[in-house]
Amino acid sequence: KLFNEVQEAKGNIRVFCRCRPLNKAEISVGCSTVVDFDAAKDGCLGILTSGSTKKSFKFDRVFTPKDDQVDVFADASSMVISVLDGYNVCIFAYGQTGTGKTFTMEGTPQNRGVNYRTLEHLFKVSKERSETFSYDISVSVLEVYNEQIRDLLATGQTSKRLEVKQASEGFHHVPGVVEAKIDNINEVWNVLQTGNNARAVGSNNVNEHSSRSHCMLCITVKAKNLLNGDCTKSKLWLVDLAGSERLAKTDVQGERLKEAQNINRSLSALGDVISALAAKSSHIPYRNSKLTHLLQDSLGGESKTLMFVQISPSDQDVGETLSSLNFATRVR
Ligand code: ADP
Ligand code: MG
Repeated sequence: KLFNEVQEAKGNIRVFCRCRPLNKAEISVGCSTVVDFDAAKDGCLGILTSGSTKKSFKFDRVFTPKDDQVDVFADASSMVISVLDGYNVCIFAYGQTGTGKTFTMEGTPQNRGVNYRTLEHLFKVSKERSETFSYDISVSVLEVYNEQIRDLLATGQTSKRLEVKQASEGFHHVPGVVEAKIDNINEVWNVLQTGNNARAVGSNNVNEHSSRSHCMLCITVKAKNLLNGDCTKSKLWLVDLAGSERLAKTDVQGERLKEAQNINRSLSALGDVISALAAKSSHIPYRNSKLTHLLQDSLGGESKTLMFVQISPSDQDVGETLSSLNFATRVR
C-alpha cells in the first residue's frame, strides 16, 4: 500500500519550463539567445553552452517566449481543479530573479497569472457543480523571509511569530493566520493586491525584498457533497519562490549573507524533499525549512505538484539557466 502511494507520488510531480523573451536592455547590448526551442512541442529544450556544445533537457512541457498567460494556464488548469476533488496541490515557480516567476504566478493587471486564473477557474467549476457540491473557498497569503513566516493579510501590528503546527487530524496549519473567505471572483484581485502591498512594508526596496523571500498563496477548499453529506478539506499552494541565483562573492556579507544562506537552505530543502519523493525514500525531510514544512501536506502522498522552472534566454545568464534546469531535472 505504502509502496503504491509513493510510486503514485512520483507520477504526481510535473515540471513545466518557461522562458521569457529577451528584454530591451538585453537587446540593446547585443545579447543573443542560447535557448533552442526546435523540439519545444515535445517538451525538449536545448541550451547552447560555450563553444558549439548543446545541452538537452526534457520536461513535461516547454513554454517559449511566444506562449502567453492563457497558454500557460491551459496546461495547469486540470491540476488546480483537483483541489475541488479533495486533493492537495502545490504549484511553484523556481528560477533566477528576473526570469518571470512573478509574471507567471501573479502576472500584471493586463496579463493576469496563474494565481488569479486559478481562483477564477475554481469559481467557474464550483458553480457548474453547485447542484451536487457546496464549496467554501478561502485564501491566506504568507511570506517566508529569513526562515520567518509573515502573514500578509494580517492588519495592524502583527509581530507575533507564526509557526507551522500539526492538527490532530494530521493536517498542517499555521495557527492565527488570516483566512479570507472569498465568495466571488471580483474580490480576488483586491485580496491578492493587499497581500502584495504588505510585502513592501518594512523594506526599503520592494523588488529586492521580493526576490529574497518566498511568497505563498494558500487556497483552502472545503467541499460538501450535497447528495451524501461527505465533507473534504484540501489546500492548493501557489508559490513564488525567492530567486535561485548565487550572490556574487563580494556582495555576501552581513544581512545579505544571512538572507543568501536562508534562501539556499530552503531551496535545497525543497529539492531534497522532491527528489526524496521521486526516489521513494522512506524519510522525506520536510522539517528542514519553513518552506517545506508549510508545504508538507501538498508535497508527496496523493497530492499533485507542478513546478515551473523559469529561465532567461540570454547568453549572459547561461550559467544560472543551466543551474535551474539541472535543479528541475533532479526533481523530475
Ligand atoms: P522574477 O519574479 O522571476 O524576478 P519577473 O516576473 O519580475 O521575474 O519578470 C521580470 C520582467 O520580465 C518583468 O518586467 C516581467 O513583466 C517580464 N516578463 C517575465 N516573463 C515574461 C514573459 N513570458 N513575457 C513577457 N514579459 C515577461
Ligand atoms: Mg519576482
